[in-house]
This record gives sequence, structure tokens and C-alpha cells, in this order.
Amino acid sequence: MALMAGVIRRLDETVVNRIAAGEVIQRPANAIKEMLENSLDAKSTSVQVTVKEGGLKLIQIQDNGCGIRKEDLDIVCERFTTSKLQKFEDLSSISTYGFRGEALASISHVAHVTVTTKTADAKCAYRASYCDGKLKAPPKPCAGNQGTQIMVEDLFYNVNTRRKALRNPSEEYTKILEVVSRYAIHNSGISFSVKKQGDTVADVRTLSNATAVDNIRSIFGNAVSRELIEVGCEDGKLGFKMKGYISNANYSVKKCIFLLFINHRLVESTALRKAIETVYAAYLPKSTHPFLYLSLEIAPQNVDVNVHPTKHEVHFLHEDSILECIQQHIESKLLGSNSSRMYFTQTLIPGVECSATEVVKSVASSSSSTAKGMSDKVYAHQMVRTDSRDQKLDAFLQPVNKPLSTGHSAVTLNSDTGNSESRARQQDTEMEDLNDFDTVLAVQVDSMMTPEQQQKESGRLSPETVPTRKRQHTGSDVEMEEDDTRKGMTAACTPKRRIINLTSMLTLQEEISTQAHASLQEMLRDHSFVGCVSPQWALAQYQTKLYLLNTTQLSQELFYQILIYDFANFGVLRLSEPAPLYDLAMLALENTESGWTEEDGPKEGLAEYIVEFLKKKTEMLKDYFSLEIDEDGNLTGLPLLIDNYIPSLEGLPMFILRLATEVNWDDEKECFESLSRECAMFYSIRNQYILDESDLTNQQPEELASGSRPWKWTVEHIIYKAFRTHLLPPKHFTEDGNVLQLANLPDLYKVFERC
Ligand code: ADP
Ligand code: MG
Repeated sequence: MALMAGVIRRLDETVVNRIAAGEVIQRPANAIKEMLENSLDAKSTSVQVTVKEGGLKLIQIQDNGCGIRKEDLDIVCERFTTSKLQKFEDLSSISTYGFRGEALASISHVAHVTVTTKTADAKCAYRASYCDGKLKAPPKPCAGNQGTQIMVEDLFYNVNTRRKALRNPSEEYTKILEVVSRYAIHNSGISFSVKKQGDTVADVRTLSNATAVDNIRSIFGNAVSRELIEVGCEDGKLGFKMKGYISNANYSVKKCIFLLFINHRLVESTALRKAIETVYAAYLPKSTHPFLYLSLEIAPQNVDVNVHPTKHEVHFLHEDSILECIQQHIESKLLGSNSSRMYFTQTLIPGVECSATEVVKSVASSSSSTAKGMSDKVYAHQMVRTDSRDQKLDAFLQPVNKPLSTGHSAVTLNSDTGNSESRARQQDTEMEDLNDFDTVLAVQVDSMMTPEQQQKESGRLSPETVPTRKRQHTGSDVEMEEDDTRKGMTAACTPKRRIINLTSMLTLQEEISTQAHASLQEMLRDHSFVGCVSPQWALAQYQTKLYLLNTTQLSQELFYQILIYDFANFGVLRLSEPAPLYDLAMLALENTESGWTEEDGPKEGLAEYIVEFLKKKTEMLKDYFSLEIDEDGNLTGLPLLIDNYIPSLEGLPMFILRLATEVNWDDEKECFESLSRECAMFYSIRNQYILDESDLTNQQPEELASGSRPWKWTVEHIIYKAFRTHLLPPKHFTEDGNVLQLANLPDLYKVFERC
């Protein structure tokens, strides 16, 4: 077979241009970056980006900059046309982003481009469309504000392969958000927004009066913005200046976030990232990383600016010396910012993404030579106490043997053991209004039946296996159906679980799971309980960190989530004597907390109304919430939310009042939500409802009936135990002070080292 020589032909010019353009513009985010830089070069103070299908269908950038003169519109999309550079020597002192005049030309070779622009002194705006670098028709006058709008449609319409490679618009959109938000942080003082066409709300939005830190907060969240250290250094000899914000040792993420601008252009420098990460390695948990935003200005003659537009990786003269200089500066800042502030400012939840297992594993492996990672030396400051029995806060406290106090008990709780001693136990109550409570309400919870007990007693329920509720679990898509640890924990694990398909409930469940904060959940799941500070606050340790947790808020959320997830599947806490709703309502109205005033009308009338109102809801309350009210208007049963837990009944009157006044009964979803919220508040551990009952008995708490166990025992062994498996902590706990990091062992070591 004869070899046929290929015929060499000159490529068609438009094809050449298209190939060249495809190299400059590889994806929508590249195009947007180029156009953003043009807007910034044009001194805009507001830049708005709108995209459709991840920018593949449409990219529109509107700015309020200087605009383009009508006479220049003919050639803006031709290659090598620029208003920013005339002579080659200018290259070394260039301060604008663009200089090659390549961006718009490239884009016009692979998309339909329309420019609408108005300069300050022009009478009107002009619109021009381009194809393959050429103006399609003379610019048309039109209405428009000062500035430029560039519309890029059907990107890569003529480059099949590229179009196929970019099939995922949401991935492209993510890239776009990343680019714009980084420029927004770097250009505080200029407002930016990005949204999808048709959306009213922008996905990234910064304001012109916001600082760089404000912008970091709005884009990366509070968790990081609170932990930022300002950095800044310069060296005349090396010809560089650096400033920015970096996260301190309290913060870490799984993947390094590095916003690097060199001479105001978003770039990448692996060398610089590695250099900085070495410094952090001594401060952050293993395999976690910092957040870094650095702006480097390097004498233009020392940077190779003339790199290919898609080459983000940069190199510069004196690179090694500059890196070392930056390393030293960052090291000094990290040292200086450490624990001295620890106790003064309360920091939020931890090393957000830092993984617990990592450190624990390496501790474990040090004792077992077969374990992987045995070579990892474990330093003292990384040691983690993993068994809370080792030592708890109580060990430091003197046990106080309080004599039985006199006075009236607001509530007597009795368990099924019928322990008369505990009923006789009387406690002081600060709530004077409730002093005569016991005369109207001798609530004894005499049957606290778990589903198993109920089943035994009634024999009605079939012993099917228990489907546990579906919940998202950190790091795994597997639903926890098979997990034995969850079984028998909440009352919801009834043998015959009713399947609830109400959209309202499914939505509420979804709201909970989408709000969940994975690393906080991990912390709760694996924490070691340290001790109670008060009924409201408790200390817990996780990895090398000590946390102060708001038990009231966390338990309230726990009960809310149980109410939502186990909806219509609760056991019943039956009251031994029915409690008249009327009396409960009256008690609540007499409490100043109710906010009752003369204008509301006589209490008696209101109380009667409340009884009648709630009586109308009995069926639903019983069916869905196990809240039982008899025909005479007495409360007879409350939902059993977790085994061995009875809410403090001092909250009961207010709960009844609020059921009638605070629940939105008109809308299904809101009704279930607000009802659950009210119920959760009543069940939560609250300061005012818990009286000091420590050491009243010699019996072990485990042996006592649930109603008479010391609250501290309940908090630790019932509430915090339930947090491990049954709480999907919402993100806001990391920001609103309900979970506070008090100390971090490595930081304490640093403090001692300096002493
Ligand atoms: P370069 O930015 O390298 O000059 P471009 O192809 O990005 O090349 O832009 C070509 C020219 O078009 C710029 O030099 C500038 O004069 C003009 N231009 C582009 N976008 C804008 C804008 N948003 N506002 C004002 N002028 C613009
Ligand atoms: Mg440009």
C-alpha cells in the first residue's frame, strides 16, 4: 500500500481564530473574568453579572464605567486593539488588567457578542453586535446609562467539542460565582452582584460601602470572618508589598481556600500556597487548612505579566526570598494572635471542617504498631482525652449535702415505683405564683410507658422490627435504618410506626436536614461530656478543644426535631391525676411572664376560652402529638419524646397558655411547626425550672425513677446522650453563641511556652 502524503493547506482564517479563541476562553468563568477586569479598568463602581445556563446560554455584564467611544466600537472586538497600551515599553509599567486587546476579540470568535455603551459626554448610548471579531452592522443609537453592557450569547455555538465538554451548567455557575466573589473581595468599595437570569435574588452580592472583611463574611460566612488576622508587610529591596487577611489557628477547613491577587489580577501560585501551608502545619489539626486572602504587589518589571491568559500560575523575580519574607510575617502573626485572646473573645465552633477521627486515630495508633500512620508522632498538645469518665468537672467540686428544704413543691413528680418519699420531697420554688400549684395540680406521672411496656401491657401491638427514622449522617449517604444505637432511644421507635406523608411534615424535616452543620454534628456525636455549669450551660470536650454549650437551646432543638421526625408516633406520659386545663391556664395568666394586662379582660374568661379552644383540637393533639385532653377539659397525657425523660412540669401552665395564644392554627405547616416549637420549649432544660436537688438521696441516679434523678444526671445521661444521635444541629448554633469554643489545647501550650 502506498503511503499517501497529506496535503498541507492553509487553515481558513476564521478557524484559526476560533482555535486561538478557544485557548483564551475555555469556559464561561474565563470570559467573565476578562470582562470583569475590563469593567474595573473602566473605573466602574458597580458591576452586575447575569447568566443563563451557567453562562453557556447567556452572560451579561453591566457596569457603570467610562464606556466606549462610538468611534472605537468598530474595532473593540478586533484582536490587538486596546486603549491601554501603545508602546512595548509600557508593558513593564502596566497597571491596568488588560493590555493585549485579546479578550473581547476571542469571545466574539466563539459567541455572539452585543455591546451597549455610553460615555459621559455622548448624548445617547450605542449598541453594536459582533461576529468573528467584526462589527455586524454600524452601531445603532439607543437609550442607556453611562457605562457598558456586554452580552455574550451561545458561547461555543461553533465549537462542538468545547460545548460538549461543558455539559454541566451548575458547575460552570459555581466557577462564575467563585471568580466574581473573589474579585468582589479584592475590590471592596465596588459593588458586585451575580444572579441567574429570571432570579430576583442575587447569589453573590456585595455593597459599595462594605469592607473586604464584610465581603469575606457575606461570601465565606461568619465562621471564618471572625477568625481573621490582618496581615501586611513589604520589602523595598525585593520590590514587593503584601497585604490581606488570613485565618488564625482557631479556624481550619478541609481544603485550603486561597485568594491570591498579584498586581490585582486573580492568579495562582502553588509555591506561595505551599510555603504558607508549612507555617500553618504547626497550628492546625492534621490535614486541615487555612483561609487566605492575599494581595501582592510586585514591581511590574519583576512579574511576567505576559503569560498566556489561561495560565493562572505565575512566577516572579526573587520568588524564594519573597516567599520566605511572607512566611516569617505570617508566622509572627499567628503566634501573636493566639490564645491571648482566647478567654476574652469567645470564638465560635471549631476548626470547622477539621476531622475528629484524624487526631483520635493517630493517638490510638501510637499504642498499636500495626495501625496505619504509626509513624505520625503525636505531640502532647494533640493528645485527646477520649473517655469522659477519666475526669469530669464534678471531681473538682465539693459535694454539698443539703438538708431537705421546707416549702411547697410546685410539682410532684412520681414515677411508677410510687416512691412516696420523693413525692414528699419538697423544694423551694422561686416562683411564688406557683405556690399553690400543688393544690390544683398533683401531677404524678404514674405511667411512663415505653412502647415496649405498652406493648406488653396491651398486647395490641405487633412486634415488627422497628424502622428508625431517616436522618442524614455526616459523611455518609447511608440512612441509619440499621443502626442499633438509635433503637429504643426515643419513644418513636414504636413497633408499629405510622408512615407520615404530609407534605408539611416532609418539608419541615427537610428544613432540618438542610440546615444541619456537619462538623458541629460530628462534635456532638463524639464529644466527651465534661460537666454542667448550670442547668443552661454545660462543658464538653471534642478533640483538643473545650466547648461551652447552651443546653437549653440545644435541648429545645433536640425536642423540636424529635417532634418533627417522630410526628404522630409518640408514646404517652400519662398523668396520674388529670390536670384541669382551666387551672393551668389560670396559673399561667397569674404569672407575670404571661404578659396579661387588664385590657385583655378577666383572667377567668380567658381561661375558659382557652379550655374551650383546646377542647376543639383534642383529636388532632392526641393523634399527632400524644397530647391527651379528656372530655372535661383535663390534661391527661403528654408525649413521651425520649425514654426516661419527663419535662419539668413547672413549665406546663405556660405551655398550655401558649398553645392557645402562640400557635398558628390556620396553616397546616405553620401549625405543626409552631406547636412543636412550643412543646420543645416546654420540654427543654431550663434554668428557672430546675431547683438544686443534688445529693438528696444516696441512691444511684440510675436506680432512681426518672422523675427523681438529679438534673445533672439527666442532662448528662439523657439529654447529651440524645444529642449524639438525635440532633442535627443547625448552622446558626455556630454563630449565635450557643456553641462556644473556650480553649484549644495547642493554643494553651503556646501560652505556657511563652511564660
Ligand atoms: P484589553 O482589556 O486587553 O484592552 P479587551 O479585548 O479586553 O482588551 O478590550 C478591548 C478594549 O475595549 C479595551 O481596551 C477597552 O478600551 C474597551 N472595553 C472593553 N470592555 C470595556 C468596558 N466594560 N468599559 C469600557 N471599555 C471597555
Ligand atoms: Mg481586557
